[in-house]
Amino acid sequence: MTVIGLGPMGQAMVRTFLDHGHPTTVWNRSAGRADDVVARGAVRAPTVADALAANELVVLSLTDYQAMYDILGTAERSLGGRVIVNLSSDTPERSRTAARWLAERGARLVVGGVMVPAELVGTEQAYVFYSGPRADFATHEPVLRLVGRPDYLGEDHGLAQLFYQAQLDIFLTVLSAYLHATALVGSAGVDAARFLPYAKENVDTLSYFLDEAARAIGEGKYPGDEATVRMMGATADHILETSRDAGIDLDLPAAVKAHYDRAIAAGHGTDGWPSLFEVITRRE
Ligand code: NDP
Repeated sequence: MTVIGLGPMGQAMVRTFLDHGHPTTVWNRSAGRADDVVARGAVRAPTVADALAANELVVLSLTDYQAMYDILGTAERSLGGRVIVNLSSDTPERSRTAARWLAERGARLVVGGVMVPAELVGTEQAYVFYSGPRADFATHEPVLRLVGRPDYLGEDHGLAQLFYQAQLDIFLTVLSAYLHATALVGSAGVDAARFLPYAKENVDTLSYFLDEAARAIGEGKYPGDEATVRMMGATADHILETSRDAGIDLDLPAAVKAHYDRAIAAGHGTDGWPSLFEVITRRE
């Protein structure tokens, strides 16, 4: 196959393909970034057109979809018949637009989102969301599987990036919450190491709450038998005030409190906390 884009992620993928005996052609804007994988046996394509001509399967690992246009736009005539597997991060809408752009040039797009850091590519922990034409995905699935366990979501090109961004939505928000909480205890001189076991236990129990919320969202019913919006909202206010007293960032707790305020204003005060979903699904 061909791999275009040799940042840490692209290089990790090429190493994996080579380790499994798959001849791999590579191209990168900054040519020197190909040196390591070429030393391991990859073939350096002198131009983008050569990289496209070498194989039907072309994997992209780039910063975003604009980089795809910048690169493939220089060799549009070589795109006919290619299956472009774009594993770069971007929005679902940009994935759909790219599928149309490639189709107009005779190529087909399979969209992917790699769900592990580069150093875990090719390991058992790695998995990758895919969406786009099922037949093209199925044809190339055996080699794509080397990157990580493939999880095919459907024909809609936007789905892979939608799941990718949704997973990172959880990941980034929880990481910020952990840093915020650590700053909160730090305001009283508590160091991160002392707080860590408490934070870990907290994160480990979160999946219980997700089960409860998913059930309520699915049923569209939010019984307020246990944690109501009003009770949790008061806590959200206490976190905001504690942060203010500690002199640390207020943006994160203010955003959380805003969800509770809006839910109360919408009449969910005595409903269960998962009813926040009703205000989160509508931007105001
Ligand atoms: P880098 O930013 O290090 O590499 C990006 C690649 O894109 C480089 O080859 C770079 O070329 C190229 N590029 C960027 N802009 C342009 C442009 N305008 N024209 C031509 N080439 C361009 O990213 P990574 O390798 O870390 O990641 C690649 C993708 O994988 C990203 O979308 C990232 O979100 C995703 N990903 C990365 C993970 C990781 O751990 N690194 C984890 C999961 C997903 P040049 O070398 O010339 O700058």
